[in-house]
Amino acid sequence: MFEKIYSPVQKLELFPFTQLFVKRDDLIDPYISGNKWRKLKYLLLSANNAHKSHLITFGGAYSNHLVATAAAASRSGLKATAFVRGESVENEMLMLCKLFGMKLIFTDRESYKNKKSLFERYFKLDEDAFFIDEGGASEEATIGCSEIISELDHTYDHIFCAAGTGTTAAGLLKGIQDRGLKTKLHVIPVLKGGSFIRNEIEKYTPISNHLELHLDYHFGGYAKTTPELIEFIKFFTAKTGLLIDPVYTAKMFFSISDLQKQNALNPNDKILAIHTGGLLGMFGMKDKF
Ligand SMILES: *Cc1c(COP(=O)(O)O)cnc(C)c1O
Repeated sequence: MFEKIYSPVQKLELFPFTQLFVKRDDLIDPYISGNKWRKLKYLLLSANNAHKSHLITFGGAYSNHLVATAAAASRSGLKATAFVRGESVENEMLMLCKLFGMKLIFTDRESYKNKKSLFERYFKLDEDAFFIDEGGASEEATIGCSEIISELDHTYDHIFCAAGTGTTAAGLLKGIQDRGLKTKLHVIPVLKGGSFIRNEIEKYTPISNHLELHLDYHFGGYAKTTPELIEFIKFFTAKTGLLIDPVYTAKMFFSISDLQKQNALNPNDKILAIHTGGLLGMFGMKDKF
């Protein structure tokens, strides 16, 4: 399952850019999508090496990570259980989790904060239980994400990615540093107050001047949108034929376009946007379109 993948680099025709490319990690798999596939690759290897056959993880009710973990577990013959933040609900994402055989434990927001203690409380006696943090955040995940860089056949002036926990960004930065590239990595936190992402990245790799954080493209916070962002999504998708999601990739593509308008980005620079997938999350906002 984690061997052959299809993630081509494609050119985007978007005025006034002349060398804007996108790494199509969204095409890796419809359910184990984008960076969640990258993150799970070495986590599942670690679980396998430790002879653990029951993945325990955490997420919100519209988490791409939960669907990805559920699908990856069922395809690998593993069991999966998720602590879902908040009161019991039903939606398209959780339906997929259940179809893939994942067990869901709805958890109030206070208890949800202490993930290690939930794991201990419920799975102390389960010798097969393997802890996977929210969003798959881990050293293993950064190694998987750094492989995005080693797959590239060309070098770029700029690489852009959206950030939730910052793990993907850490892996990309590590990949850029390891290969000695001059590429600038632009990271777009999708949450308000995203400066903590710098500390998250630093847990995995030293901060270097390759890194640039853009803190002003959260559009009100995590999973928040504005009419401007929704209009941008409609325009971008109709223009390019590429679907983007309101939570992550739309905020990243908006930043590219906006930085160019502010002359902070030259339209002739060679730019690579990482499409980190996560398109199913769109169903959480279907009333906006
Ligand atoms: C989870 C997710 C991210 C955030 O990745 P982090 O490693 O947590 O920063 C970005 N894009 C998409 C589409 C995601 O599903």
